[in-house]
Amino acid sequence: MDAKQIMKIFEDTAYVRMGGSMEELKAAEYLKGKCEALGFNAEIVPFDVDMATIQEAKLVIDGEEITCKGYFNAGNAELEAPFYYLRSTDKYTLSGCKGKIVMIDGYMGYWMYQDLLENGAVGFITYDGNINYADRDIDQRELRSHVHKGNKIPGVNINAKDAVRLISSGAKTAKIVLRQHEYVGQSHNVVMDMPGEIDEYIVLTAHYDTTWLSTGAYDNMSGSIGLLGIAESFLDKPHRYGLRFIWCGSEERGLLGSKAYCAENEEALKKVVLNINLDMIGCIMGKFIAVSTAEEKLVNYIQYFASEVGFGLDSSDGVYSSDSTPFADQGIPAVSFARCAPPNTATIHNAYDTLKVMQAAQLAEDIDFLSAFTARMATAKKCPVAREMPEKMKEELDYYLVRKRRK
Ligand SMILES: [Zn+2]
Repeated sequence: MDAKQIMKIFEDTAYVRMGGSMEELKAAEYLKGKCEALGFNAEIVPFDVDMATIQEAKLVIDGEEITCKGYFNAGNAELEAPFYYLRSTDKYTLSGCKGKIVMIDGYMGYWMYQDLLENGAVGFITYDGNINYADRDIDQRELRSHVHKGNKIPGVNINAKDAVRLISSGAKTAKIVLRQHEYVGQSHNVVMDMPGEIDEYIVLTAHYDTTWLSTGAYDNMSGSIGLLGIAESFLDKPHRYGLRFIWCGSEERGLLGSKAYCAENEEALKKVVLNINLDMIGCIMGKFIAVSTAEEKLVNYIQYFASEVGFGLDSSDGVYSSDSTPFADQGIPAVSFARCAPPNTATIHNAYDTLKVMQAAQLAEDIDFLSAFTARMATAKKCPVAREMPEKMKEELDYYLVRKRRK
C-alpha cells in the first residue's frame, strides 16, 4: 500500500464512527468494499449494543446552568443534592459521598462506580477535555451495562474548564435532570478470510469505530488500514495458516466487537493459534511497541525478529486495552502492536485525532514490519507460540476484566 492509497482511505473515512451508529455501519461497508477490491469476500456481522437518545440533560450548580452531556444508559431522573468533589478514593474521602452528587476525576470505571454506590452517592459528574485547549468540547459518555449491572444513578459529563471553576468558586448544591430513551441497537464486525493450507488460523484484529468527538485517524483507522496492508502483502504469498481479518466495531465502548466475536465463535476459536491486533500505528512521533498477552518467549522472539529485520521496537508482556484482550481471555496468545505518540504530540478520543498527527510513510513502514511478522507466523511449519496463558497474564486479565480488584 503506497502513501497515496493510505491518504485516500484516511480522507474517505474522516468522520465520527461511534459504535452502533449509522456512520459506523457506513465505515463497515467501506472496509468490506476494500476487501472486495483485494479479491476477497467480507461479511458484515451484526451484534447487539445498548443505545440511547438523550431528550434532556441539565446540570445546575447553585442556580447556574453548566453545559453538560448526559450519560447514555444512566436512566431517567431529576434530583437535587449537595455537591461533593471526590478528590481521592480513601475510605474517609469516600464516606463523604452519602446523599451527594459526586464529581470525580477521570473515567467512571467499574470499581469507582461500585465505590460510589456503596457510599451512597445519588448522582455523578465527570469532566474531560483540557483547561488549556481553546475548545469547550464535551465527550459523550455512557454508563456501561457491566458497570451499572441494573443499578443506575444519573450522571453528566462536563468540560474541565467548568470543573475547575466549580471547585474554585466553592460549589455547594447540584441538580441533575436526565431524560433519555434507551434501546438495543446494532454494531458490526467486518470479517474477511484468506484461507491457508491447513484448517488452523491466525486472527488479525483492528477496531474501526471512534469515540463521539473523534474522526479517529490515529485511533484507529491507522490500524484498520494496517490490516488491509497486511492482507495485500499476502496476495501473492502462499501461507500455511489461514488468516482471518476482523475489523471490530464498538471497541471504544468496551471491546464489544471482539467480545461478541469470541462469545459467538467458541468452536472456531479452538483453531486459532495467535491473535495479532493493531491499535494506533503510523503516527508522526513516538516509538513502536508490541505488548504480548502470551508466554514470555513470544516477547523475546518479537524483540529479536524486529532487530533481525531492522525495525525499532519495544517488546513487553501485559494486557493491552484493546481487542486482543477477549482473545487472550480465551487462552489464545495475543499481541497488540502500536506506535505510541508522546501525548503532547498526538492525543486521542477528542477532535484533535486527525490526519495532522499521521504520516503515511511511517504507516507504510509499520505495515511492512507487521506484514513480515505475520508472514513469519503464517508460513511457520508449526506456529511456535504456546497456546497457554502464563499465570501472571491470567491474573492481569482478571484485573483488567474486573474479576479481581487491585489492592
Ligand atoms: Zn483504539
